[in-house]
Amino acid sequence: MSYTLADQLEGKPMFAPYGNSMMCLLHESTFAKGGKGCYYCLKNKPQSPEEKFDREFRPHTDITAGKHRGNGHSAAANPPDSAKAHDMRKIYEAFCAAGSGGSIAEDIYLPLGFLPQTGSARCSDLKRQGKLVPALDAYGKRRSGTTKTGSSAAILVADIFATAG
Ligand SMILES: [Zn+2]
Repeated sequence: MSYTLADQLEGKPMFAPYGNSMMCLLHESTFAKGGKGCYYCLKNKPQSPEEKFDREFRPHTDITAGKHRGNGHSAAANPPDSAKAHDMRKIYEAFCAAGSGGSIAEDIYLPLGFLPQTGSARCSDLKRQGKLVPALDAYGKRRSGTTKTGSSAAILVADIFATAG
């Protein structure tokens, strides 16, 4: 079982002794006892609330950008990252409002006015960032719900409602 951001929010210690060194459980990186600390923690340390926001609501880097290097049109077709981050936060906040029961993605983003393509893409970004996690039942199994078109969809909860699975 790996250390998650939910563990961090619960205040579980993130560093553990590892031989003669220490290990950052979040980054699985070792550092010297009495040293500066985990290289990745220091590197990612937010300096201001804005920077913290940028780190937590960071949309996925456009994976097609590399493939299209040189012709530039695919980047223009994509909204800027700041707009995506704003959308991510809107969706995340709606999941927070949905509470520990969670919701399937479309029941959150459709009422907010997102198109399915955009809404599901931002939910994927949030899942990748660990801000949305699968909702589990009492047996630790992933709960699912039904979409408007009748297919099965995972019920998600905001990370603040994540249960140990
Ligand atoms: Zn670290």
